[in-house]
Amino acid sequence: MAKAAFTYAANPARILFGPGRLAELGIELDRLGCRSALILSTPEQAGLAEAVAVRLGAVAASVYAGAAMHTPVAVTEDALLHLRRLGCDSLVTIGGGSTIGLGKALALRTGLPQIAIPTTYAGSEMTPILGETIDGRKTTQCSSMLLPAVVIYDVELTLTLPSMLSVVSGFNAIAHAVEALYARDANPVVSLMAEEAISALAQGLPGVVKDRADLSARGDAQYGAWLAGACLGAVGMALHHKICHVLGGTFDLRHAETHTVMLPHVMAYNAAAAPDAMRRVARALGRADAASSLFALARSLGAPASLRELGMPEDGIDQSVQQVMQDQYWNPRAPEAASLRGMVARAWVGAPPHEDRAEKEEGCHA
Ligand code: NAD
Repeated sequence: MAKAAFTYAANPARILFGPGRLAELGIELDRLGCRSALILSTPEQAGLAEAVAVRLGAVAASVYAGAAMHTPVAVTEDALLHLRRLGCDSLVTIGGGSTIGLGKALALRTGLPQIAIPTTYAGSEMTPILGETIDGRKTTQCSSMLLPAVVIYDVELTLTLPSMLSVVSGFNAIAHAVEALYARDANPVVSLMAEEAISALAQGLPGVVKDRADLSARGDAQYGAWLAGACLGAVGMALHHKICHVLGGTFDLRHAETHTVMLPHVMAYNAAAAPDAMRRVARALGRADAASSLFALARSLGAPASLRELGMPEDGIDQSVQQVMQDQYWNPRAPEAASLRGMVARAWVGAPPHEDRAEKEEGCHA
């Protein structure tokens, strides 16, 4: 059978993967010609950032441990003052998507090179995307200036990530890979990475829950997260990411937990319109049905099941559907308000996903 036409564009990346690779941070800074790095982290990971600074010695100008979820612009501006006062020539981000988001926001404003050292599975380090929040509104932008020059995946830094945070962060990564499989600009290379990502994460996460210091399970999960992040950076996302963006922004729900709850429901919504993607997800999971198997996996790992338990009010169901219907985005199945409402209502109570078929199964712009 002739291959369908496709376009494949790769983001430049230099990846150091494996236990102990953090030790090469100084060499990497030197390779980039950097002499004065600002080390970024959240307040919770300040100790780790300080330890990295001590290890780097004189190349570490300072630690700024103020990163916060959804990249508030006020935090970025404060960090920018700090950075300019010290005359830093580079950024080292050590942490999850919040810290890496701050590094990207600073890189966008200064053009400084970044070295990202991810400690969750969110995948931001592999994307040219930045979401920033100002006055409670989140806006997203895309620029090649946002891409880190180097990404160091040192599995040892993930051992402290609490089990439940690991599970929801892992599902956040799986969501990138699932939507990459049915993206409008899906292509064979990214689909290979997506399937491998889902398989590695599904294999690694149960081991992480059993023993959060299991290096082998952690390695699988981190490998999957890297591939999933590369998928997110390479092709467009669809309904699932749109809904999570709306829910996170409107009700201040936690990012990774929202992805975990919503993913099986959106997959069921899209299943009939994206049969090949669902077949590949099911194959990666080694199960017959993609959406219900992911739901079952999340349950077996003790992840949150409902939007209600994440703190969303019940009247938020209609509000979120309205917002999703208002904005333009691509999805393999047309967003239909009544079906979306049913889907969000099921997610709100934590019911299993339900495949409700569209009358017209074709790709669309809302
Ligand atoms: P996070 O970065 O907010 O981390 C959650 C908490 O876990 C923080 O307190 C953090 O310090 C702590 N933590 C992280 N790693 C740890 C470890 N190994 N051990 C112990 N504690 C650890 O959460 P996240 O889910 O990684 O990132 C969410 C943010 O990233 C959101 O703002 C989201 O919008 C953004 N994001 C952006 C992209 C993108 O491409 N732009 C992609 C994914 C996520």
